[in-house]
Amino acid sequence: MTINQYDTIIIGAGHNGLVAAAYLAKQGKKVLVLERRAIVGGSVVTESFGEGFTVDSVFAGGSLRPDIVKDLKLPLPKSASTSPTAPLSAKPAFISLQPDGNHLTIDAESIKRISEKDAARFPEFVRFMDKAASILDTAYATIMPRLPMNFGIREGYGLLELGLELRLAGRKDMLNFIRALPMTAQELLDEYFESDVVKAAIASVGIHGFTLGPMGAGTGYTLIHNWMNRGGLSHVNVGKAGEITQALANAVKSFGGEIRTEIEVKSIKVESQIAKGVILANGEEISANQILSSADPKHTLLQLVGAQDLPPEFVWHTQSIKMRGSVAKIHLLTDGKHGIPEGTLAVAPSIKYLERAYDAAKYGEISEKPYLEVTTSGNVVSIHFQFAPYALKKSSWQIEGLKVEKLAIDTLAAYFPNLKSSIVNRKLISPLDLEQTYGLTEGDLNHGQLMLDQFLFMRPIPGWSNHKTPIDNLYLCGSGVHGGGGVSGAAGRNAAKSLK
Ligand SMILES: Cc1cc2nc3c(=O)[nH]c(=O)nc-3n(C[C@H](O)[C@H](O)[C@H](O)COP(=O)(O)OP(=O)(O)OC[C@H]3O[C@@H](n4cnc5c(N)ncnc54)[C@H](O)[C@@H]3O)c2cc1C
Repeated sequence: MTINQYDTIIIGAGHNGLVAAAYLAKQGKKVLVLERRAIVGGSVVTESFGEGFTVDSVFAGGSLRPDIVKDLKLPLPKSASTSPTAPLSAKPAFISLQPDGNHLTIDAESIKRISEKDAARFPEFVRFMDKAASILDTAYATIMPRLPMNFGIREGYGLLELGLELRLAGRKDMLNFIRALPMTAQELLDEYFESDVVKAAIASVGIHGFTLGPMGAGTGYTLIHNWMNRGGLSHVNVGKAGEITQALANAVKSFGGEIRTEIEVKSIKVESQIAKGVILANGEEISANQILSSADPKHTLLQLVGAQDLPPEFVWHTQSIKMRGSVAKIHLLTDGKHGIPEGTLAVAPSIKYLERAYDAAKYGEISEKPYLEVTTSGNVVSIHFQFAPYALKKSSWQIEGLKVEKLAIDTLAAYFPNLKSSIVNRKLISPLDLEQTYGLTEGDLNHGQLMLDQFLFMRPIPGWSNHKTPIDNLYLCGSGVHGGGGVSGAAGRNAAKSLK
């Protein structure tokens, strides 16, 4: 009998892989994390693109679940673990850019300028969204049972807790939460507000990162999801992504875990439907009792395992997971004289504008009038651009990169005329870069779209929502499973808890 060198190998050092590794190492397991990039963090990373050009390259801002920060004793500032229910007033501003330069901060006081009625409704809207976010947060912390299979005591206990949270939410909020999930963001916001400017600004958060328009079914759910991850409308901890994953990597090591970077896993070694270890791109083989993959489910199951070792129906389901990346990032190093205020700024002037921006993606085209979300950190301006579909119908990303960069700068410069003259360096991250550099299949931010047919017990695959796979000892722990996406760490922690 061979004795494995490691109890658990974790593929990928994104925040979820690191969270899972830290929990397991803390339990005394011998853990090895393998990361293909030279740096840890996955999408939660701060990196340099030149002198003075250091930036959160991918994810714009957020925080881990406070209980994970506490469990792992992470030395993160309090704001790095903002609870979904923290008051909106404690957050950086969320600003809707207006063509006349009279930009609108989305809070009860400023909205009065546009509509007294909307300002009066805003606190009730925030109260409902915080409640809905809290319910979703509990759902994400719960390991979903493998319906329609029977479930064990641990899963049953989690479901009981979720049931209790729903019960405690009160009949009205519980019903409104369930009702909001399949609604369009527009429909949900129509119930609270009359001003299109206010509705569009809030709706933009519901489509942020998803290939959906605000008139699409299920954007009620994605609005609640992003509200939960941000703890409201605006991003927190901008410029500090690397601190989160560095703290996690240090925790893994402090508990005795090992992390190796610039190590690509080429395949997972499977014998008689049991995972035995991994084979690296350099040909080395490492064995372990359990393998956890934080790479996306399509990459893990179709590339690293391969269809030959999986049941045909499972392969079909895996192939059917919707990955539809349509986000590009444009980072601008400036001389600081760009004129852009701090906070989270949205180019989202109307619901129709956002829907039309999305229309382009449906036809494999880049939005000529894009939805942008902008954050600043020091002299760097970061632009989140939608929609820039991974799968371009008539062109390729090798050709279209410059077009997106120009569209982003021109669109933002229309609001801030000093922007162009302040630029000293720039960096585009296209959906193809997200795939090739950051390992995101089809540039999908969350390892699979968050849609109603891909959430709860249907994420990543109906009947396989408890982190297990048809391969014994192979588990999934990244954003593509229930608890992801976003940067809460729930998927990683749930997976660590679900191990035998
Ligand atoms: C542009 C962008 C903006 C975003 N904005 C936000 C936001 O504002 N708010 C929010 O909450 N979420 C946001 N997200 C989503 C969020 O960042 C992700 O859902 C989350 O970070 C994914 O974490 P993860 O650990 O599950 O996976 P990842 O961070 O993707 O980590 C997986 C790791 O596995 C590695 N890997 C993959 N394959 C292999 C292999 N074969 N061998 C070895 N290593 C491998 C990868 O290199 C990577 O480091 C954004 C994502 C993107 C891309």
